[in-house]
Amino acid sequence: MTETTPNHTQTVKGWAALDSSGKITPFVFKRRRNGAEDVTIKILYCGMCHTDLHYARNDWGVTTFPVVPGHEITGIVITVGENVSEFKLGDRVGVGCLAASCLKCDMCLAYEENYCSEIQLTYGGIYWDGSLTYGGYSTIIVSHKRFVVKIPENLPMDSAAPLLCAGITMFSPMKQNGMLEQPGKRLGIVGLGGLGHVGVKLGKAFGLHVTVISTSASKEDEAKRRLFCGADDFIISTKMEQMEAKRKSLDYILDTVSAHHPLGPLLELLKVGGTLVLVGVAEKPLPLPSFPLLFSKRKVVGSLIGGMKETQEMMDLCGKHNITCDIETVRPEGINEAMERLAKNDVRYRFVIDIGSSSSNGVA
Ligand code: NAP
Ligand code: ZN
Ligand code: ZN
Repeated sequence: MTETTPNHTQTVKGWAALDSSGKITPFVFKRRRNGAEDVTIKILYCGMCHTDLHYARNDWGVTTFPVVPGHEITGIVITVGENVSEFKLGDRVGVGCLAASCLKCDMCLAYEENYCSEIQLTYGGIYWDGSLTYGGYSTIIVSHKRFVVKIPENLPMDSAAPLLCAGITMFSPMKQNGMLEQPGKRLGIVGLGGLGHVGVKLGKAFGLHVTVISTSASKEDEAKRRLFCGADDFIISTKMEQMEAKRKSLDYILDTVSAHHPLGPLLELLKVGGTLVLVGVAEKPLPLPSFPLLFSKRKVVGSLIGGMKETQEMMDLCGKHNITCDIETVRPEGINEAMERLAKNDVRYRFVIDIGSSSSNGVA
């Protein structure tokens, strides 16, 4: 762990949950010295993904405490290692969910590091040197160059931050299911939260017909008017007559829901042969009904964030189409309140922590 790892010489200010109460408190810890292939980044902003909340409260029973959450990180390069030619001091960069992978397996060679069996995440992972990884609710991060992307000049650093997880998590299944080359296909997005709202913007940018499937009637107007070119359709999932009217109307569904919910009614929205991609993670396994699958040979698949090349491609496309996230900025002192609101589905659509507003310069 960091306390006993000799090359962990940088003292960093952060914010951590110390137990499953999920309460976030200031936390000072050590990061590794910048290695030959590393980039050290002064963090400016960090988005608050629902995964941060799941981890802080140990919803999935996998959290190692203390956990410094945060994997939607943007900042400025302040140190580069001797083997780093890809980045220079002052570059605007981002770090997402990945801290390490083996870099040798077929998945890594194909730049699908996210599916490497030795993947280590930005927080709660074990780095190559044996240390516990700490995320972006902190002032400085040291990342291997493979897991750093450039932020296009036209994108603001605050509203671009959630692209590092929410953006790539929606982009990757769109690309891998061929949606980028199929304008006019009908995409459903379940859950209009951090992931879902970026999904609407990406889907519209790629010419898809986008339907939001939501539990929140209050989100309909803004989903249609505000989100980029606006969602084309909006279904309230608790209104059975609305669900019934759209039976067999969609080619794809991206399901971002963070809690237990029935899959059967969603599957019925798919055409014959349609695909439902699960990206949200409920605390308990979701029951999978057989009949809606069998009778229309529908598919249910999963998708985990995205690879690093794909992440840079997504970022560049967002730069090209001017896609950013709708955010509410909070100061570090406001993290707990923001977590409470995130748990209550009271956010339009992503909280982003203004780390730069923290009083410390980051290194004690
Ligand atoms: P979020 O901002 O909280 O959005 C989740 C949305 O789900 C809510 O806005 C709400 O949308 C809907 N929802 C919430 N509770 C619901 C319920 N009981 N029944 C039906 N719908 C409900 O969360 P997020 O940051 O987008 O993350 C969503 C999920 O994806 C989380 O579980 C997170 O851990 C997971 N995730 C997965 C990956 C991956 O790689 N696969 C990456 C990032 C996050 P409406 O108000 O529109 O109903
Ligand atoms: Zn995330
Ligand atoms: Zn690998």
